[in-house]
Amino acid sequence: MRILLLGGTGEARALAARLHPDTDIISSLAGRVPDPALPVGPVRIGGFGGAEGLTQWLRDNDIRAVVDATHPFAATMTARAAQACADLKLPHVVLARPAWNPGEATLVASDTEAADIVAQQGYSRVFLTTGRSGVAPFTGSDAWFLIRVVTPPDPEVLPRHHEVLLSRGPYGYGDEYALLRDNRIEVLVTKNSGGALTEAKLAAAKNLGVAVVMIDRPPLPAGVETVSTVDEAVAWVLRSCPPGPQVG
Ligand code: NAP
Repeated sequence: MRILLLGGTGEARALAARLHPDTDIISSLAGRVPDPALPVGPVRIGGFGGAEGLTQWLRDNDIRAVVDATHPFAATMTARAAQACADLKLPHVVLARPAWNPGEATLVASDTEAADIVAQQGYSRVFLTTGRSGVAPFTGSDAWFLIRVVTPPDPEVLPRHHEVLLSRGPYGYGDEYALLRDNRIEVLVTKNSGGALTEAKLAAAKNLGVAVVMIDRPPLPAGVETVSTVDEAVAWVLRSCPPGPQVG
């Protein structure tokens, strides 16, 4: 029983480590970042070639179940996997880690709305942590941006005043506090990614009185089964695809 783990998150790597080698898995990464953190076990890298490509790939590789442990904002992949599994009648679950409590944050639905709020409120020093694809709505802003990304944004989308900080989490509270304080940040713009690895910035912002603009998660496809922890995902896999009898 071969299981596809759609990955690109710490949870996906933890799940692979729990299942491999007793369960026959293959992890899939989009291939967005150079030198990605690789899960244990077999890995494939790169898109499937759209909805049809995914369906064909699932057939060709004799996949019997799919665990979608992609990032909560990887909405296209999640929608395509849900549709392909429904079409092929494959067991399918989304590992959706719990969202952060937004607290006093201003909640918005998109990067564009976040940029509108920053402009309306007249913030002049912004910590932008929405990823390389989240920079473009801020291009025309006169504010100063600290832009933290794993891979550099396209130069043409960068706002006039900025510093790009290339780094990859996890981030601890002390470092986040110092980063916000030393850069005199007025507002933090973040996705509601959830998870412990990048959560410290929220506590640092709260304790420094820094405003937070938080982009809400895209909704999951209707009717999909979800689990919220790696433990629950392991239990789902073992329930849905019990290991076969040992030979010998
Ligand atoms: P997306 O917009 O939902 O996906 C765009 C396309 O990228 C998909 O249609 C698919 O291409 C390919 N793709 C995405 N995830 C894939 C995977 N695990 N394996 C193979 N192909 C994949 O996703 P995204 O926002 O670009 O995210 C890409 C990857 O980065 C995901 O694995 C995600 O977990 C990770 N990530 C995303 C974010 C974020 O904020 N979006 C943050 C951290 C990590 P085809 O149509 O060709 O199959």
